[in-house]
Amino acid sequence: MALKEGYAEDKNSGSAQDESASLKNPRLYSFLARKKRTTIDVRGIKVGEDFTLIAGPCSVESEKQTIITAQKVKESGANMLRGGAFKPRTSPYSFQGLGIKGLKILAKAREETGLPVVTEVIDTRDAGWVCEYADILQVGARNMQNFSLLKEVGKIGKPVLLKRGMYSTLEEWLNCAEYILAEGNQNVILCERGIRTFETYTRNTLDLSMIPAVKEISHLPVIADPSHGTGRLSLIEPMSLAAVAAGADGLIIEVHYRPEEALSDREQAMPPDMFAAVAKKIMGLREFMKRMEREVDRKA
Ligand code: PEP
Ligand code: MN
Repeated sequence: MALKEGYAEDKNSGSAQDESASLKNPRLYSFLARKKRTTIDVRGIKVGEDFTLIAGPCSVESEKQTIITAQKVKESGANMLRGGAFKPRTSPYSFQGLGIKGLKILAKAREETGLPVVTEVIDTRDAGWVCEYADILQVGARNMQNFSLLKEVGKIGKPVLLKRGMYSTLEEWLNCAEYILAEGNQNVILCERGIRTFETYTRNTLDLSMIPAVKEISHLPVIADPSHGTGRLSLIEPMSLAAVAAGADGLIIEVHYRPEEALSDREQAMPPDMFAAVAKKIMGLREFMKRMEREVDRKA
């Protein structure tokens, strides 16, 4: 309890008066402030209650690529579609995304499959366009501390998937969620996507301890991204299962109908048949855990 309260107060506040005010008014993200878990309704899917399996390409590249991939992930049990139309690329010469054309393709894929769409917004100037087409606005790792973007998506009120910044602590991440919540948007989903460490074998170090840590401190749903979290196709399945075991409310996995043709994040693009097998294990493990919880509760 002390830890939760500690996190809920402003450690940097200067005076004793500030301290007592922050204890009386715990942060909006804190479990103490709400005292129950948040669930977010996205076209009938209750994020935080129903397991949220988001899958799709890193980038929207064409109508054919997006719609075929969307159909395939849906057949395998995904309940949301991902795909970037505005891409935050490390190099300015890499594929930057199709922009508004990409958003229209995503809307068409939703029409065809019924899957809600998760797509990234990288600039406050695009927020209006993106929210016309998206069901969930993704704020990516590189923009986690883009405070004007956080305020903007806070004002818009659409559900936001807030990825952890690659150099961020839990407290910094939660404070970014606070920016959105403070604007009156209560629909924030956190996403652990790995942080930079000295390890080079993996693209990032997927910090799965953050899943139960977020749940200890906050009422917000939290999912994991084993695609960016490892950058290695062979590691996505084991880390997906580990995230489920750690209590994640969902996963976001990059799938491409022809991985060898992917214009971004090719090395981690999962082919649909592999996704089908992984999704089956994910859902199986989730069911097993729910059953165990019920059994243990009954015996207690
Ligand atoms: C993405 O989801 O494609 C992406 C760029 O993710 P991140 O912000 O976690 O790097
Ligand atoms: Mn990607």
